[in-house]
Amino acid sequence: MKRTETTAGYDQKQIAIATICSHSSLQIFHGARQEGFRTIGICTRERQKLYESFPLASPDRLIVVDRFADLLDEEVQEDLLRENAVVIPHGSFVEYVGADEILARFRVPTYGNKQVLPWESDRRKQHQWLIAAGIAVPRIYPTLDAIDGPVIAKLSGAKGGRGLVHARNRQEIAKRIDPALIDQYTLQEYIFGTRYYPHYFYSQIRSRLEMLGIDRRDETNIDEIYRYHDLIDRPPTYVVVGNRPVVVRESLLGGLFDYGEGLVAASQRLFAPGLFGPFCLETVCREDMKFVAFEVSARIVAGTNLYPVGSPYSCYYFNGEMSTGRRIAIEIREAVEQGRLEEIVT
Ligand code: AMP
Repeated sequence: MKRTETTAGYDQKQIAIATICSHSSLQIFHGARQEGFRTIGICTRERQKLYESFPLASPDRLIVVDRFADLLDEEVQEDLLRENAVVIPHGSFVEYVGADEILARFRVPTYGNKQVLPWESDRRKQHQWLIAAGIAVPRIYPTLDAIDGPVIAKLSGAKGGRGLVHARNRQEIAKRIDPALIDQYTLQEYIFGTRYYPHYFYSQIRSRLEMLGIDRRDETNIDEIYRYHDLIDRPPTYVVVGNRPVVVRESLLGGLFDYGEGLVAASQRLFAPGLFGPFCLETVCREDMKFVAFEVSARIVAGTNLYPVGSPYSCYYFNGEMSTGRRIAIEIREAVEQGRLEEIVT
């Protein structure tokens, strides 16, 4: 991994918060502005108009690029370094730029621990991490023959619910996936229940875990298939198109807290200093009231876009408006005030 520039040369009174104009960036810019930071958006030409359209969430400065991956260009990186920029990674950042490229070539101080990237992007490692955290996970079938019930097959590297196929049993899944690609699929036990995606924030500065919200994704066409199942005759799809706010029964909150704490503790053992900042678990609550987690996102998730002014949980930590974007900005501000910025960037 290429050494990230340290923030030692930064003018810490002039830190700018920067990110790629996509995913949760409006929330990130809005929150950063609320905390008094200058904001910089790395934007493609076709998105420029959109990102100039929100008076309270448009970045103060746009760096216009042809493709998001141009963020890796020396010129852009030098520009960000001159701006005293701290980059906030989000899902599209990793998707458009690539985990390997970020690790190998991106040297602008970035909020969070980049060492989480290999643990997150490799399904096997992620599974190992979840188990080490004491989190219930779906069984993984090592081969087609091992399948003994409903199954969901996930193509490696697939994102946003693409590349998923489910089936009732081994015979059915064998017909639905290309046998030539079998090595590229993870065959996971299908979990029946209700989906909850809790948004956590682990603060290095305050040494505490916060739960800032919960959402559920809207996926096409699985989530509304009951409206037209008699009109189409093909397996459902899982492509994420939106998000809905949810809360869980209060008696279930403790279990979700334990999961968040377990994930942070395991990460500190596996890749110190471990996971910090915003993260999310994708869980299904089964009929026996147990949460089973099938994925972790180790950064801000788009479901937090539901709560730019706060959620039914964030209000128990902060009076007034509090989004995940603003929470990140507060962490950076407090780190600067305490001379600890180096601890929270890599
Ligand atoms: P993913 O690509 O892992 O984020 O999964 C996309 C969607 O597939 C989820 O939001 C769920 O609707 C569904 N899903 C994924 N894994 C499972 C599972 N093991 N059991 C049931 N549904 C799942």
